Amino acid sequence: MKIPQSAAFLAVLPVLVVAHLENVGARHARHNHNPIGARQAAPSALTLAAAGSTTVTGTSSPSSSISVAGTAFANSSGRTSVTTPPTGTSSGTPATTAAGAAVTTTGTGTSAATPTISVSLRATNPTAIPLASIVSNQPSAATIPLDSTAVVGATPTAIANAPALPNAALLSPTNYPHLDIPPPVDSPEVLQWIQDVADTGVVIPDISATNPGGCPNNTDAVNDASRCWWTCGGCTRPTDITECPTAMDWGLTYDDGPAFYTPNLLAYLDQQKLKSTFFVVGSRVISFPNTLQEEYMSGHQIAVHTWSHPSLTELSNEEIIAELGWSKKVIKDVLGVTPNMMRPPFGDIDDRVRAISLAMGLTPVIWTRISPLATFDTDDFNIAGGSTSVGQVLQNWENIIGNATTRDTGFIVLEHDLFEQSVEVATGYILPDAQAHNPPFTIQPVISCLNQDMANAYIETNNNATNPPAISAAVSGKYRMVFTPLVVR
Ligand SMILES: [Zn+2]
Repeated sequence: MKIPQSAAFLAVLPVLVVAHLENVGARHARHNHNPIGARQAAPSALTLAAAGSTTVTGTSSPSSSISVAGTAFANSSGRTSVTTPPTGTSSGTPATTAAGAAVTTTGTGTSAATPTISVSLRATNPTAIPLASIVSNQPSAATIPLDSTAVVGATPTAIANAPALPNAALLSPTNYPHLDIPPPVDSPEVLQWIQDVADTGVVIPDISATNPGGCPNNTDAVNDASRCWWTCGGCTRPTDITECPTAMDWGLTYDDGPAFYTPNLLAYLDQQKLKSTFFVVGSRVISFPNTLQEEYMSGHQIAVHTWSHPSLTELSNEEIIAELGWSKKVIKDVLGVTPNMMRPPFGDIDDRVRAISLAMGLTPVIWTRISPLATFDTDDFNIAGGSTSVGQVLQNWENIIGNATTRDTGFIVLEHDLFEQSVEVATGYILPDAQAHNPPFTIQPVISCLNQDMANAYIETNNNATNPPAISAAVSGKYRMVFTPLVVR
């Protein structure tokens, strides 16, 4: 199904005046999320709505079933007005007006004090979940079963020299650290990886770990420009990937999965023939190995997003090595290949984290940042927790598009496949809107927007002659800092 290209949609959204500041206070509040819960726990009694159907069934309680008007936002006039509460904690009942398009929900937020922001979407998905239903406390909708093409021993068509796909059924969780918990640093595996890093000759800068609490809690580190701490000031090094080189190229990325609703996202991407980069949390690969295999086999790029999603600058060298090492290992165990890109959770990286990552063969990938108020972060992550609304996320998205189209280079946007809400806003609104954009965006994985073959996204299949490995940047002098020897704490 192709998204209608001609229709234009207008959403009028009051939003809370929340400073869209990166990494300040609750904005990146070190959400210690453990949304997956017990390992291997899976939704039960799922009801898959047929295409175009609008009935969704809760995954935890039969009484949470709701019916929503899935096409309420597409009308013959091509314009849709939507009013949503600012906090995303709607308790009201959606009401369709005589025009069949305007939906008003009564929220519990402080809407009287909020301004109105208009968001004009070029297209939406006709089967999108209505905006009014994408809220923090929404009942869980159906998940789509994996359309699995992953066969043990197979190789992905996108990687000619890939090794055979391992048998995910053989993965034993007892052989790995716990879900969403930082791995211990005294295991034989981690001790070996620490030695491996030392053996590379890459010198790790002797930078102290940052304090929890972000920039306000780290005055000295914030003022120490030599750290090049991205979190507080946006400092990058030439080794960081923060954009695509070609204008109008969008390096599509989704973080924090694999998760329950990742298959819903994969179904849309497959339907639209779009490929993405997935920055996966290693411990969640243990929960959803088949989802990771499906991503990989269907041509998406897999990259590292740590084992337990900590702020890496707060960790010791050994803890960072453990987070990255276990993530590399579980991905290799499930796919047969090891990613050569990583994204630091929260974008939290400094020169110490950079050096360790490069020494472990991982090139850091962040997201595009023009200024403190113009980061290419949809903030879709925070709908589920209630600290932002879907309206604000779409406003963020429109701001990103506005900035993207003025750039001489392409861009990378931060989105997530961890929560239902972020998947629904991506497949229902953000991606259809982007696909209808004229001039068109070229939507592709990060490795592709760098004009590299998919094989060059993995250590085992990379062509080192055409795509120098990450570590070469660390030892060649391209990566210049004041270094002192690796400190084992
Ligand atoms: Zn993340």
